[in-house]
Amino acid sequence: MVFAPHQDDETLGCGGLIALKRQWGVPVSVVFLTDGHASPASSQLNSHEITRMRKQEAIAALDILGVASKEIHFLDQPDQGLRYLSQEQRRSLVKQLVQLLERFKPDEVYVTHQFDLHPDHEATFELVRAAVTKTEQKIELFQYPIWAMWAPWRIKSLAKSPSCYRLPIKEGIAKKRLALKAYRSQWEALAPDADVSLPPEFLSLFLSSHEIFFKVQPEINAPVRLSRQTELKTGFLVSMGKRDKEERVRTANAKNRFI
Ligand SMILES: [Zn+2]
Repeated sequence: MVFAPHQDDETLGCGGLIALKRQWGVPVSVVFLTDGHASPASSQLNSHEITRMRKQEAIAALDILGVASKEIHFLDQPDQGLRYLSQEQRRSLVKQLVQLLERFKPDEVYVTHQFDLHPDHEATFELVRAAVTKTEQKIELFQYPIWAMWAPWRIKSLAKSPSCYRLPIKEGIAKKRLALKAYRSQWEALAPDADVSLPPEFLSLFLSSHEIFFKVQPEINAPVRLSRQTELKTGFLVSMGKRDKEERVRTANAKNRFI
């Protein structure tokens, strides 16, 4: 199960993973927390129209990656507003997330990184972690970076974590590229004054041969080092071929190889 603040984050951070999972016959569902209305920012574009467009783009992108529309959930929280929810709104949203987790019972959950340099992305991590903690389910929680990719110093520092994984996505990269193309509203200026949130140099960071993930330890602040045996219990590692398991290295030992 992939949780994304906005319609495009799931493909940027996990597009290769999703394509591979579906290729292996693993069910994947995707949950979008916000309505995406704030991007692109333009005086000439109606926010309702932007939301409608982004939802259509998400459905098209995920169809390319092999995820059916019935597996896609839009929670329609205000874009740029996850940090500013009232206590009651937050409680209600976490409850919705818990219900989704209990309904789909995922072994693995993917969410934007807790230090992703964007308030909605960091809030999404907090909300999803709160929901995962509330369930009694055994869930492996992984974080994926999006905006942190703009800050090499941040990624390099994060990559020193013993919980950093590189997933080779060679077999899924073509689908990921196509799926990103489906997000036209994000890489093309739709109006003369519209901003482009995904310029080519940013997109290229997500079209490398690997995706990176950071596993969240049950006690997030504890410096836990997993044994290899424990690591191999996780679904996506088990699902990878033996050679890929060997190829997977902690980014700390593979400086600059993850981009
Ligand atoms: Zn986003």
